[in-house]
Amino acid sequence: MTFKSLGLSDALLKAVRKKGYTEPSIIQEKVIPLILEGKDVLASAQTGTGKTAGFTLPMLQILTEHSRWKRRPLRALVLTPTRELAAQVYNNVREYGEFLDIRSTVIFGGVNQKPQVKTLRNGVDILVATPGRLLDLENQKALSLARIEILVLDEADRMLDMGFLRDIKKILALMPKKRQNLLFSATFSKEIKKLAGGILHHPVLVEATPEYLTAEKVDQKIYRVNKSKKTALLIKLISEGNWEQVLVFTRTKHGANKLCKKLLGSGITAAAIHGNKSQSARTKALAGFKKREVRVLVATDIAARGLDIPLLPHVVNFELPNISEDYVHRIGRTGRAGASGQAISLVSHEEKDYLKDIEKLLEQKLLSEVVEGFEPSDQSEDQNKNSKKSHFKKSKRKRGNRNYNRRSNRR
Ligand code: AMP
Repeated sequence: MTFKSLGLSDALLKAVRKKGYTEPSIIQEKVIPLILEGKDVLASAQTGTGKTAGFTLPMLQILTEHSRWKRRPLRALVLTPTRELAAQVYNNVREYGEFLDIRSTVIFGGVNQKPQVKTLRNGVDILVATPGRLLDLENQKALSLARIEILVLDEADRMLDMGFLRDIKKILALMPKKRQNLLFSATFSKEIKKLAGGILHHPVLVEATPEYLTAEKVDQKIYRVNKSKKTALLIKLISEGNWEQVLVFTRTKHGANKLCKKLLGSGITAAAIHGNKSQSARTKALAGFKKREVRVLVATDIAARGLDIPLLPHVVNFELPNISEDYVHRIGRTGRAGASGQAISLVSHEEKDYLKDIEKLLEQKLLSEVVEGFEPSDQSEDQNKNSKKSHFKKSKRKRGNRNYNRRSNRR
């Protein structure tokens, strides 16, 4: 299959060639013709499948074919859950639209809104936005959604996870009823189906690679290790393996900061990326990582979702996620576009239930190893500490109760 046979215009084919793509990905093969036909699409596709080009290329083509406006009203809206994803989608829109007369922009919170308002005033065809800032600017009448012809909800499942349902409903109410709707989601949960039912008209359901198949392509390995030894083991793996670019996941923002500091302390360049970091700090960290000035990017799930880091060789789960699906998203950052990659999870005794859930989802048992010098103790460290703590608590409680009894006796 070629991009040409999908019915794309010469200007778009030129942009695709410039990107170096030789053939469409599976999701692109499936969705591009449907979108060009004007169909509503409900697509299951995670980052790494080429979904962004899947909706951007036909969207650009439709907007250029049916252009009848002199003043440019907003005609297409792409909603994304995070600022990073918004920035990435926007870059794609610009790159694929390079040879077209189409204007686009991106808006998200956490940065000055003045330049965004100014760009919008000058006329924009395609807007990529996160829900909060979009509603802010709409309230201020800096933009209007009254002429939207195409709506894309990208990573809709994550938008629901992040609590954007109310905002999405408000945004929908601001758009004309007659429009083309495209909903992309990594999972098809009940909630997603409900949301889709309220938005899409006779949608065509497209499922690209089921997630666990994508996961199978990645070389996955578990190192069993005590929690307190994880940092030392990670440093050893990075140094001895000469890893030049590694994405490390932690469960919490605090954990990300702490690990980042320790890596820096041992002479490994690292940066953390999570929800508490300012937009400019996140952009800087990601740029440094892409340019290979930063060797380790430490991220939380939400911050990393949708990050476009091509051909990432190593992903490490410093801690396993408590939501099994997040494991698949995390390891989806490696082995992309046919390249091989390695996903390593450092798993302590406390995380064995998470591991069980993940293996159940993947329908496979993951290879588990122990590194010499990092052998885990049988009991969890927390359990050890807790058993001491709980003894302490118990005696305190007893004392407390005694005091209470004494007091009540006095009463
Ligand atoms: P996405 O799933 O949209 O985040 O895209 C993942 C990565 O695949 C990005 O780096 C794209 O530039 C790249 N990509 C998209 N389509 C193709 C294609 N047809 N051939 C090779 N790479 C692609």
